[in-house]
Amino acid sequence: MRRRLIFWLLLGCLTLWGPAQAEVSSTMENWKRIDSRYCTIWVHPAVGVKQVNKKISTWRVRPKVKAVPKGDSVSDELAGKCDTLFRRAQEILDMYPAGIQVTIKILKERSEIKGAHSAHYGFGTKAIAFYAYEENTIYAEADDLSESVLVHEMAHCIIDHYFRMRPPRKIEEMLATHVDAQLRA
Ligand SMILES: [Zn+2]
Repeated sequence: MRRRLIFWLLLGCLTLWGPAQAEVSSTMENWKRIDSRYCTIWVHPAVGVKQVNKKISTWRVRPKVKAVPKGDSVSDELAGKCDTLFRRAQEILDMYPAGIQVTIKILKERSEIKGAHSAHYGFGTKAIAFYAYEENTIYAEADDLSESVLVHEMAHCIIDHYFRMRPPRKIEEMLATHVDAQLRA
């Protein structure tokens, strides 16, 4: 399972694929916004926050970052989980870029990931998630979401903000994969 996940993540980071099939709506109307310490999470209108929250498990992940209650309990729980993952990624990498924050967009369909990737880079992807440095945003699809996927993409964000010059993609990929592997270590 982990091998398969790493395969899809690598695919998204390193390879080129065919044309886009769908685009992410340019308006964020009706999307649910959740703010945490490190993240601004946008959830697609057709995806429930509960559904997203269920996909991410942070038990056994340390250190726990507790969210400051702002919204309903499910949103607060999701905010706390995202912060825990982000903090853990920083710790594994031992990189703490000042004032770092990331936007996470949770999409409904895999085709929307492809569309978003194509809009950024001119070609699609078969990946289940990717991080766009240019707008500091993680794109992920609800069905295939997991703590591994998120922490891997968060690692990309941290690495890209830590170094003055972004490291070669293969090195960065290796580091991001290391973070995923060490998540519960
Ligand atoms: Zn990657």
